[in-house]
Amino acid sequence: MTRIAFIGLGNMGGGMAANLAKAGHDVRAFDLSAEALDRAKAAGCLPVASAAEAADGAEAIVTMLPAGTHVEAVYAELFAANVAPPTLLIDCSTIDVATAKRVAEAAQAKGLTAVDAPVSGGIGAANGGTLTFMVGGSAEAFARAQPILAAMGKAVIHAGANGTGQAAKIANNMLLGATMVATCEAFLLAEKLGLDPQTFYDISSVASGQSWSMTSYCPVPGVGPDTPADHDYQGGFATALMLKDLKLAAAAAGDTGADTPMGAKAAELYQRFADDGQGGLDFSAIIRMLRG
Ligand code: NAD
Repeated sequence: MTRIAFIGLGNMGGGMAANLAKAGHDVRAFDLSAEALDRAKAAGCLPVASAAEAADGAEAIVTMLPAGTHVEAVYAELFAANVAPPTLLIDCSTIDVATAKRVAEAAQAKGLTAVDAPVSGGIGAANGGTLTFMVGGSAEAFARAQPILAAMGKAVIHAGANGTGQAAKIANNMLLGATMVATCEAFLLAEKLGLDPQTFYDISSVASGQSWSMTSYCPVPGVGPDTPADHDYQGGFATALMLKDLKLAAAAAGDTGADTPMGAKAAELYQRFADDGQGGLDFSAIIRMLRG
């Protein structure tokens, strides 16, 4: 059993902390929300009053927070509380690469080991313990983080040095946003040309247009496997979160000089959809906007 601090018990972190407790770990949980703390208690975690209290005596500190600013603020609180080596810091939030590198360097300056370990998979995967983790950090840090992350996921992959976990996450989600828009467009064009959507799916899902967006997450209701499209685009991966990731990708492209016109176009389209008040719908619902 490992003593683990878990900070950020929202849609994702709540289920992840519960899975660590279920695996037999001693989980000290903290969130700013009293409701989130109540849910963590019901799931077998010990709710505490601050991030510093959660971290006291912990072998590892897992954070699952909205954005880079929150991670920096919580890490500053942990450093001020004199969290000491050999504590391992594992940040599972999706944040920008520059902040991920900066907090890892700040941790190293304190003699602490840190990894960025963002996830692929939504709330269902967080609750079910089937997330995919992409981990940035040293080989030694990865070896320490791996068994903890394995209790919350189906795959734990070492991406490279600090920041590469976030790089993999951002590049992957830029690809996902772009393929979803392209998949929606292809269905709409096929429809205008007189093809039945099921027939187009049957052909394209085994032809060269196939992608995860089509065969695992088909945006057309009643076609392919059960997806958010079959539930009025409720649940799944919210448009607002896809937009957040596309903006992180656009910023990273700007920082590095990478030319990503398809990613930029996807960001522009998701921005329009979110501005239209649809940020809470699953990201595959963008087919409605494209349909006009
Ligand atoms: P969320 O908003 O539901 O949860 C974030 C939690 O952090 C909230 O409960 C909030 O109260 C807490 N929090 C904020 N500041 C805090 C602080 N200083 N101290 C303690 N707690 C604090 O968000 P989420 O959907 O769980 O997402 C978390 C992260 O996971 C994000 O970075 C998101 O981009 C990423 N992510 C989400 C999904 C998804 O489907 N929801 C999928 C993959 C990755």
